Amino acid sequence: MSDLNREQFDKVMVPNYAPGKIIPVKGEGSRVWDQAGREYIDFAAGIAVTALGHAHPALVGALKEQGEKLWHLSNVMTNEPALALATKLVELTFADKVFFANSGGEANEAALKLARRHAYLKAGEQKHEIISTYGSFHGRTLFTVSAGGQAKYKEGFEPTPAGISHVAYNDLAALKAQISDNTAAVIIEPIQGEGGVTPAEKEFLQGARELCDQHDALLIFDEVQTGVGRTGYLYAYQYYGVTPDILTSAKGLGGGFPIAAMLCTDEVAPSLAFGTHGSTYGGNPLGCAVGLALLNEVAKPELLSAVQTKAERFKASLDSINAKYGIFKEIRGKGLLIGIELVDGWQGRAKDVLAAALDKGLLMLVAGPNVLRFAPSLIIPDADIDAGLALLEQAIGELSGS
Ligand code: PMP
Repeated sequence: MSDLNREQFDKVMVPNYAPGKIIPVKGEGSRVWDQAGREYIDFAAGIAVTALGHAHPALVGALKEQGEKLWHLSNVMTNEPALALATKLVELTFADKVFFANSGGEANEAALKLARRHAYLKAGEQKHEIISTYGSFHGRTLFTVSAGGQAKYKEGFEPTPAGISHVAYNDLAALKAQISDNTAAVIIEPIQGEGGVTPAEKEFLQGARELCDQHDALLIFDEVQTGVGRTGYLYAYQYYGVTPDILTSAKGLGGGFPIAAMLCTDEVAPSLAFGTHGSTYGGNPLGCAVGLALLNEVAKPELLSAVQTKAERFKASLDSINAKYGIFKEIRGKGLLIGIELVDGWQGRAKDVLAAALDKGLLMLVAGPNVLRFAPSLIIPDADIDAGLALLEQAIGELSGS
């Protein structure tokens, strides 16, 4: 980022995310260009958002076509793309009903509100408790910040909504001790993204399902990061074989266009009766048209199986980088949501790797101080995987002083 841009940023923007060193101005496939015309390989895909890479013709076409027809009319009238996208999501998943929102946080806010209201209508006010996991991230609205399991996001925003407790991730005994007939819902990311790309154990999700059934509580899967093909399955619950009552999806669903969805069963959907929840733009025609075009591509079996193959290629190269430098303690994740925990001697250095990679022309992510995170587009060409990992190796080589 040039000094001039940084000055302008500080002058006119409320500080939120750190601005980053470059300003990207153009993207195509797995490549991005900054203001100076420098090219980057994108292993971040806008934090797992651009599932089909940048400027995918099917998405650009859908956006243009809908943009010339109708952008928005009223949130008290539905529209054709919303009906089509909801129908497609219902067809492809466990869900019977869909609610549209504009971001992951909003979809989770809707899920938590629905769970509370459902429990309230069934059993009264005392059945309002939500159980979440430590390390989780569910968004930045006050309810979702409260549900999130990382203290740093809550500091200074207290009092956050009450009635939410946390148990250790993958600790079924702790969940069993915490859950009761007053529990309205348990919310879990099948793979914790921000929390370090940590996959759930199958037994944890299965056990959570059983405990929720025993206590008449709803199971919510936050699939904002794992959703829409990223794991090689349309949604990660399909990989685990454990079905939630409510699932939230955002990021990859719009391929970069802001759209999110809360999927749920027929049993719980009526608890959000007309007028109880909504937003002006949730389910707008532009977002839904893009979402539909995206699902039509991503749900193809050949695309999903290619995600697995690409992930194997990715991981094999990471193994060979590690054979040289020995700085990876664990390579984990599923499909093209890949996390690498650094060895003890490299604790806290994830951001150094990210900065060195950027200097070489590679965009990547971290998940906390010790975990490198990669979430490239699902259709990244093999040649770009190889070229990006060669840049990563150079960056690591430099940092290791070899
Ligand atoms: N849930 C998960 C699992 C996420 O990773 C994120 C974003 N990092 C969110 C929710 C919030 O999504 P958004 O930023 O679109 O509100």
